Amino acid sequence: MASIFAREFTPDVVVVGAGLAGLVTACELLDAGARVTIVDQESAGNLGGQAWWSPGGLFLVGTPEQRRLGVKDSLDVALQDWFGSAGFDRPEDYWPRKWARAFVEWAASDARPWLSERGVKLFPIVGWSERGGAGSIGPGNSVPRFHRVRGTGPALLAPFIERVSAAAAVGRAELRFRHQVDHLIVEMGAVRGVSGSVLIDDAAPRGASSSREVVGAFDIRAGAVVVASGGFGGRREAVESAWPARLGAVPRTILAGVPAFVDGRMLDIAEFSGAHLIHEDRLWQYADGVSHPSGVWPGHGVRLVTGPSPLWFDARGHRFPASVWPGSDSLGASTHLGATGSDHSWLVMTRRIFDKEVFAAQGDLTVDFTEKDLALVAQRLRRHAPRPVDAIRDAGLDVICADSVDELVVGMAAMEPETTLDVERVRAEVRAHDREVASGFGKDAQIMATRHARTYRGDRLMGVSSPHAFLDPRNGPLMAIRVRSLTRTSLGGIETNLDCEVLTEDGVPLPGLYAVGEAAGFGGGGMHGYRALDGGFLSGCVFTGHRAGQVLAGRLRH
Ligand SMILES: Cc1cc2nc3c(=O)[nH]c(=O)nc-3n(C[C@H](O)[C@H](O)[C@H](O)COP(=O)(O)OP(=O)(O)OC[C@H]3O[C@@H](n4cnc5c(N)ncnc54)[C@H](O)[C@@H]3O)c2cc1C
Repeated sequence: MASIFAREFTPDVVVVGAGLAGLVTACELLDAGARVTIVDQESAGNLGGQAWWSPGGLFLVGTPEQRRLGVKDSLDVALQDWFGSAGFDRPEDYWPRKWARAFVEWAASDARPWLSERGVKLFPIVGWSERGGAGSIGPGNSVPRFHRVRGTGPALLAPFIERVSAAAAVGRAELRFRHQVDHLIVEMGAVRGVSGSVLIDDAAPRGASSSREVVGAFDIRAGAVVVASGGFGGRREAVESAWPARLGAVPRTILAGVPAFVDGRMLDIAEFSGAHLIHEDRLWQYADGVSHPSGVWPGHGVRLVTGPSPLWFDARGHRFPASVWPGSDSLGASTHLGATGSDHSWLVMTRRIFDKEVFAAQGDLTVDFTEKDLALVAQRLRRHAPRPVDAIRDAGLDVICADSVDELVVGMAAMEPETTLDVERVRAEVRAHDREVASGFGKDAQIMATRHARTYRGDRLMGVSSPHAFLDPRNGPLMAIRVRSLTRTSLGGIETNLDCEVLTEDGVPLPGLYAVGEAAGFGGGGMHGYRALDGGFLSGCVFTGHRAGQVLAGRLRH
């Protein structure tokens, strides 16, 4: 289905991209009485873009969910965390800084009520991602802030999809799928619309690569164009060319954490017409990716989110440095991995830790949340309860299970025969870990952090197992998971001012062109700076879409 509208439709605004940011923008415009066309290069089966695949984690501050769990959060702490993580250090950070402040203020005030009004429900346990570990004003979340949407990504998208579909049914909105924008129409220095190729219908499943065969052409004129086309993490060449030296050499294997449609092509098209792209080298990668057990897109990888208990070893068997334990600092972990010069590292844990702490950061492998079924989630609290993420363990692509540390290191060495693993060192670390745990005191910062984490009820219930001996068979077999680099998000993007207007290299607005979501670095061309706090991508899509819609609606009224 290329278009659900046969007759001529004259929109006030064209939105490029039917992901979360584009949908929110469209809804705001529709609420204000505007007529909107959304074009997307993919089929209707991909409606919602990347957000559909996400576990629906949102960055929110000072919510009732946090308060119920005894978490004292505030705007001040959140700003301290955000700016401590972002590390803004360039002249081009002028607008990103302003966006960061505006976003955090919104996340601490209107965001949750606004989402609730639209029917978005939050899971009662707030997760603690990016915990930091390098001081109060350093990177990381001082408190748990990762709010999961009940029903994950699809449930976050649902109200916006329903709103746009209802408007389309009465002729106020138009969705054109398999419409790939190739150019912006620029006349007299202003953007007046988009033109491009109609792609052949393709029944490829959601997320799978689709045909680029062209069967027609289109152009659509409108008072304004909003670029909501996402980042470029699905195009290996783009990731490689943006790869910064601070992350070391480009790994031979980089797992794709996003579908191929996250191709960044539209960013180049906008740049060609005068948009200023900034901070392309600020990539948000994870060092703890594994192959998806039944991948959909090329090189499909999944991020494993774990609590702080697994021991993280580099390819040679040396522990990752203090403060870079699992879940503490994703950029620090990627930087350390780069410095080792190897493509992989190892998370070593017990089955007990796996059962309690390991999640897949992808909706289809967290169906207990996707089903919105709290009873199913409650089952997860039981030891050895089956969970969707077990598919990763059972597929065995990256996972070794063993009854002894000797057997484990043999398996690790066999899985990566080209690297010499210091098996003695791994054995020694595991034994030392158990001695520290048994002492009840200890000097290992990671074990101390694990004990501390359990003072938080949310972690005790769902995120962190109590420190225990790895070599005690009652804690299940030992497990080593080979983890590798995984692409996710482009933190940089099209530079915009606080009205979402796209700026040229001279810093002036390019009339008629706006940008939102990941394409705009979630605001300003990169409101996360170098480091994200997790959840800010989806929240940032909502915030930028909301803002662009309001600004444009105001302008259309006058
Ligand atoms: C597995 C996974 C888990 C994630 N988990 C989280 C999480 O828990 N929390 C969080 O904050 N973030 C998460 N993210 C990141 C977040 O989902 C994305 O950053 C966000 O959804 C991007 O939304 P967007 O609307 O800006 O772009 P997208 O969702 O990428 O949508 C862009 C759309 O534009 C279309 N398009 C692109 N170019 C063109 C063109 N030239 N012509 C026509 N159409 C075009 C694409 O086909 C696509 O449909 C996750 C991402 C993934 C993949």
